[in-house]
Amino acid sequence: MPQRSWLATDSVQSTLSFMISMIVHLLILVGLGLFLSPPDNEPQRIALLASTFDDRDEPSLLEPTLTLDTVDSAEALPELDDPQVAQAFDAPNIPAPFARPKSATAPQTPHHLAGDIPFATLLTVNHAPVGGGFEGRTQQARAQLAASGGGTPHSEAAVEAALAWLAGHQRPDGSWRLLHQAGVCDCRNQGLRESSTGATGLSLLPFLGAGYTHLRGPYHEAIQKGLDYLIQKMIDTPHGGDLQEGANFGMYTHGIATIALCEAYAMTGDQQLEPYVEKAIRFICNAQHPRGGWRYNPGQPGDTTVSGWQVMALKSARLARLEVPSHVIERSTLYLDSVSTSQGAFYGYQPPKKEAGPTAVALLLRMYLGWTRDDDRLTRGALYLAATGPSKTDVYFNYYATQVLHHLQGNDWPQWNAKMRDYLVERQAKHGHEKGSWFFPDSHGTIGGRLYTTAMCAMILEVYYRHMPLYGDDAVIDEF
Ligand SMILES: [Zn+2]
Repeated sequence: MPQRSWLATDSVQSTLSFMISMIVHLLILVGLGLFLSPPDNEPQRIALLASTFDDRDEPSLLEPTLTLDTVDSAEALPELDDPQVAQAFDAPNIPAPFARPKSATAPQTPHHLAGDIPFATLLTVNHAPVGGGFEGRTQQARAQLAASGGGTPHSEAAVEAALAWLAGHQRPDGSWRLLHQAGVCDCRNQGLRESSTGATGLSLLPFLGAGYTHLRGPYHEAIQKGLDYLIQKMIDTPHGGDLQEGANFGMYTHGIATIALCEAYAMTGDQQLEPYVEKAIRFICNAQHPRGGWRYNPGQPGDTTVSGWQVMALKSARLARLEVPSHVIERSTLYLDSVSTSQGAFYGYQPPKKEAGPTAVALLLRMYLGWTRDDDRLTRGALYLAATGPSKTDVYFNYYATQVLHHLQGNDWPQWNAKMRDYLVERQAKHGHEKGSWFFPDSHGTIGGRLYTTAMCAMILEVYYRHMPLYGDDAVIDEF
């Protein structure tokens, strides 16, 4: 394979114009922030959406997009006096000191992948474990890990029933939609948005998690069509391949769809996927806010849930032997620091708080980013998750907390697992067109509907084999 270079002349030029555009927009936003700040310093509920990604044709200097949202204006403004941010705009365009995994998965050729914002020389390489791979996703390994790790024949049957339901709700064009009914289906509780790229990525993940790919297994045609759909929906931009779909929802859909592409590539080594995986990951790197997080739209100050999908996408890229700029990883840890409390044991959605869902997301990321099993912050955070217990409705929390506690294999794992596993097996729909699906009403479930809920619940029941251990004798210790 010829080596790709992201540092070609046109790339540099687009990078420079991107940066100039960004600086100008930031200055405009600073001005707007001052203008809009009320004298009593009440939080201004205005999202200052920097239009740094709107310059696909010509940089627009006069039209920063303002939309009503839930971002405090004070938080929305990157700190131009931050020496790291300021220096970065002057730094030479040198790629990060890339790390390379020692443990090979399917693709054998490493590829350089550089974000366009050259923070590389300012930050150190982050050494972190790169366990959590996909070696458990063969039918033999899956059976062994499910049996030894806490799964049951019932939980495995539930996974297969969920996959059958998902396969039955794929559209003829290869996509899945949160609006799953499409006039031919009487399953209740469809979502509130179409979101075809996000829904397609989310639906592909449990197939891949169970060891099925577009090259092997009973669902290879469905998976191929789903991957093809994502590829043809990808929009080439100067900042990478864009899979966003949906207003104020885009980076969710991009991150989830990117994980699906990464996993399919990592599991098969299919070279046809490689350029699309690279472009999608590059888009994530460029969409990161200078303070390290990601939010609904590229370049916005982060929130913990959107950031969670992006970091997991970067992790999946590493498992596919793609090289992720170390500064992107480093900044994502700085983001987590910024929303943490109790020295890093607990996390908030945006401001530092102790919130169950964000804490579950953040602790899983911390584990992937290098915290060791005996880290006191991890221990205290996990105790909080275990004490909170599996939720009857919050699938989002359950999805992350189950992974955290499974990786840790602490004293509370057996009880958590039995409760979570048996609840899902019991509550899975058993009859009619809904057979194999789940729905629980909560804030995420209402928006994502039965399709989202089913994909997430299936992945919870795949926890025994979907990712290999991060800790213990079976873990593969390496760099992120
Ligand atoms: Zn249906």
